Amino acid sequence: APKENPQVVIDAHGLPYQNAKLPVKKRVADLLARMSPAEKAGQMTQAERNALKSQGDIAAYDLGSLLSGGGSVPTPNTPEAWAKTVDAYQLRAQATRFQIPLIYGVDAVHGHNNVIGSTIMPHNIGIGAGRDPKLAERTGAVTANEVRATGIPWDFAPCVCVTRDERWGRSYEAYGEDPALVEAMETVITGMQGSPSGKDLARNDKVLASAKHFVGDGGTEFGSSTTGSYTIDQGVTKVTRQELEAVHLAPFTESVKRGVGTVMPSYSSLDILGDDAGPVKMHANAEMINGVLKDRMGFEGFVISDWQAIDQIPGDYASDVRTSVNAGLDMIMVPTAYQDFTTTLRAEVAAGRISQARIDDAVARILTQKFRLGLFEKPYADTSNLGKVGSAEHRAVAREAAAKSQVLLKNDGSVLPLKPSQKVYVAGSNADDLGNQAGGWTISWQGASGATTTGTTILKGIEKNTSSATFSEDASAPTEGYDAGVVVVGEKPYAEGIGDVGNGHDLELTDADKAAVDTVCAAMKCAVLVVSGRPQLVGDRLGDIDALVASWLPGTEGDGVADVLYGKRAFTGQLPVTWPKSESQLPINVGDATYDPQFPYGWGLTTLRKAPSGGEATLTALAVAAQLAERAGLGRTAAGKEIVDRARLLVQQRTGGKLTAAVSEPFAEADHLLLTGDLTGAVAKLRTAYRAV
Ligand code: BGC
Repeated sequence: APKENPQVVIDAHGLPYQNAKLPVKKRVADLLARMSPAEKAGQMTQAERNALKSQGDIAAYDLGSLLSGGGSVPTPNTPEAWAKTVDAYQLRAQATRFQIPLIYGVDAVHGHNNVIGSTIMPHNIGIGAGRDPKLAERTGAVTANEVRATGIPWDFAPCVCVTRDERWGRSYEAYGEDPALVEAMETVITGMQGSPSGKDLARNDKVLASAKHFVGDGGTEFGSSTTGSYTIDQGVTKVTRQELEAVHLAPFTESVKRGVGTVMPSYSSLDILGDDAGPVKMHANAEMINGVLKDRMGFEGFVISDWQAIDQIPGDYASDVRTSVNAGLDMIMVPTAYQDFTTTLRAEVAAGRISQARIDDAVARILTQKFRLGLFEKPYADTSNLGKVGSAEHRAVAREAAAKSQVLLKNDGSVLPLKPSQKVYVAGSNADDLGNQAGGWTISWQGASGATTTGTTILKGIEKNTSSATFSEDASAPTEGYDAGVVVVGEKPYAEGIGDVGNGHDLELTDADKAAVDTVCAAMKCAVLVVSGRPQLVGDRLGDIDALVASWLPGTEGDGVADVLYGKRAFTGQLPVTWPKSESQLPINVGDATYDPQFPYGWGLTTLRKAPSGGEATLTALAVAAQLAERAGLGRTAAGKEIVDRARLLVQQRTGGKLTAAVSEPFAEADHLLLTGDLTGAVAKLRTAYRAV
């Protein structure tokens, strides 16, 4: 804790709200009853730390919260400096009348990703590919441990978006296109927060999570607006009420069930087909926030706006403030306009345009989480976990997650797994670039190429397995004598917006990437790894590629990718999104009336074990086993997954990895059915796929 003594106006010791033995409800009621309108307005305000005109403004405006926007980092950017910086702000909050601690928030969306040296997990799309809820939970626990170690109790994660159009520049923040998959991965919330009751939040290794972006962020038309402006990822989601419920709202029901502490509305607008309302900005959407999230789902945490998002509500600033707070927003990420916001909010309350009850509800929700987090008792960083930031123990979890996220799309059996004795030629823009394999939201908001933090590139991971690897990024002069080529291509980092600007709005590989693939695959047997936040079109090149891997954005542990390349771990990942043949197919999702992808949702070859032999007879046995297991309630369990995996292997064996539409569709549906717990249905679909070849 900081040494310097804060200027305490009133010695608040001994008041009931300070008694940690009292139930949180009582503490909230006691404190709320003492607070002035200015103090209440302050609690509802979140400023960006760099926007503070002076640190004294924390007390002067009774600010309830600060954030570091992506890349708003202390100097030096070390875990220790983070803890010191956050503590210094917290010290200022101790100079307020009631010493209400700040709740500090960051976007730690794949590990404590703003901090150099932290453990960077695969982005969510890779976690979805891993389809391992327990592992997702462990990644959440590691992230929480590292974030809280630096004195930060709140993380604007996870995104529980369901991505329905991969032109969306935030596709990689989604676990996938199927709500059932997103729900299954929400164990991450438990990893971050602990018990749904909130009783673990005061621990020094837990943080408050934020389910975002409510609701329909992944469903905007074209994955964007078509204007080409900055708001390009913040378009309009046009859905029927039924689709809204089944696809976009369902994951939030799961978040609430897991006791998520905060929810962040989406920048996008919602246009419910069949209603006359037209598109409504989500930050103004009272029906969804008050009506659905709070009343119907029973969400008890608080709603935090997105960055400056209320400014996008039509009307003047007073109307932005009034409309958003009345729609159910509890705290506003202003993030620079904290003076304006608190003044305007108070004026709107004084004029009766926002009720006192609404304000009290908002402040009570915020205080409840602060009490649960134990911030009144321990406002400062407990630095005893600082040494765990980027520790070997944490990196082992990230390595496992990276390995499990790898999806083997094609494998003719001639290259993978690699053998240590083989001479391997490594090429491509993303083979030896830590920044590229970590993607956006890493050290800076947009992320960057190069050695931006500590970790292992895919090339370095390969080199740990063999002494005979040669690397040439641009695949210049691959001469004879190599046993295998590994070409790592894909995207450069980006966050929000439309994605890799160099690539334009499409999902094409760059010319340099295409050339590297063509050169290497013409000269030798080749495996192509696509390191990207979304599918990249490979088109006819697929015929020249011997093994194709979707690597997503695996994070700092390239060792995990090397593990599956060298067979230390089996490939087990499955596509979390449909892999299209061409951009003209977009949007393409499992369940579409016509579905003819390059690789279907759920696809993923495995090197796990030999496929069971016996074909139709074995499949029939599996179908019977599925029925029995389902009756025993094993639908969504590991035992259930085992049955489906065996059936899946049979299909893989029968097709030899080659797909026709008749196989794709039932294959993809099988995956969805398994996630919903319908084991019998899943095996029946795989049987249909089997018979189609
Ligand atoms: C993003 C949010 C993020 C916020 C705070 C916004 O631009 O949409 O996902 O939590 O910034 O950094």
